[in-house]
Amino acid sequence: MPERLGPARAVPLFDKIALIGLGLIGSSIAHVARRQNLAREVAGFDSDGDVRRRARELRLGAIAESTQDAVAGADLVVLCVPVGAMGDAARDVAPHLKAGAILCDVGSVKNGVVSAVAPHVPEGVHFIPAHPVAGTEYSGPEAGFATLFLQRWCILTPPDGADENAVAKLTTFWETAGSHVEIMNAAHHDLVLAITSHVPHLIAYNIVGTAADLEEVTQSEVIKFSAGGFRDFTRVAASDPTMWRDVFLHNKDAVLEMLGRFNEDLSALQRMIRWGDGDGLFELFSRTRAIRRGIIAEGQETAAPDFGRHIGEENGPGERN
Ligand code: NAP
Repeated sequence: MPERLGPARAVPLFDKIALIGLGLIGSSIAHVARRQNLAREVAGFDSDGDVRRRARELRLGAIAESTQDAVAGADLVVLCVPVGAMGDAARDVAPHLKAGAILCDVGSVKNGVVSAVAPHVPEGVHFIPAHPVAGTEYSGPEAGFATLFLQRWCILTPPDGADENAVAKLTTFWETAGSHVEIMNAAHHDLVLAITSHVPHLIAYNIVGTAADLEEVTQSEVIKFSAGGFRDFTRVAASDPTMWRDVFLHNKDAVLEMLGRFNEDLSALQRMIRWGDGDGLFELFSRTRAIRRGIIAEGQETAAPDFGRHIGEENGPGERN
């Protein structure tokens, strides 16, 4: 598997791309678009004036003072805002989209985003939802880096009858950014991500919250002995509160369904411990170990022991979500 981005394009894929929202994902797209010559011009807008100022200092592209200026003439517009803000962002960009443009988003939930965005999409604009399954626990324009999407999956959920050329062009965009692209429908995406991403985040938020509320164990003991396993949950539980609040509010059904299954399996584990069923515990732990090995074999994780001390990290701040 390649550990570096491939060669930059000889000819830009798009004339102009516009990034709406310049946090972790928007700024990472800006970096990789420049590195890979994905667009002749990269424009951006963020509703937060301070973020716009920092994005200019970071030279993320032509940072506009209005959505209209950012989007004018763009042939690809990517909404990189929290899931709960997608509808407003789509409403703001819609009147300024040029005919034939591709409108994409990067939201971690797909059905909810489609419902919020699709009603605003003008005739002649191709709306192709996307979710790059890549991230860190950091946010803001300083958090972005060009290799964020390298060897990560990007899931596209084109609606029925979507323009094939637009889907192909967007696939090339994400592949040139280093991703592997998979196409599925929005409902299936939400179910898969509920178990692989959303419920794990909920469990992390819950366990860290429980530890914080304990009375018999002091907070300093929790921090001191965190390398026992707790520390890995704290990284996930440090993820952006706005983003994750929106994910749970907009993928409610799939998350509740997976949480139901999780609770049943947890009760079964509880019973095994209560009744001293060592064979049952051993059998489950052996199966779960095989899943970890599968993830390493697929190149989605390294086999290096992780003691939480990443000296000389090359791929940017933090680990990947
Ligand atoms: P982020 O770092 O918090 O950046 C989002 C930016 O968008 C903020 O600066 C925010 O400003 C701005 N914004 C909010 N509403 C806006 C609007 N209507 N118009 C223009 N700008 C607006 O978030 P992120 O981590 O990049 O996440 C962006 C999207 O990517 C989310 O939908 C998330 O689900 C998805 N995603 C995230 C990850 C991850 O690990 N972080 C991974 C994959 C996908 P304010 O802060 O002032 O609201």
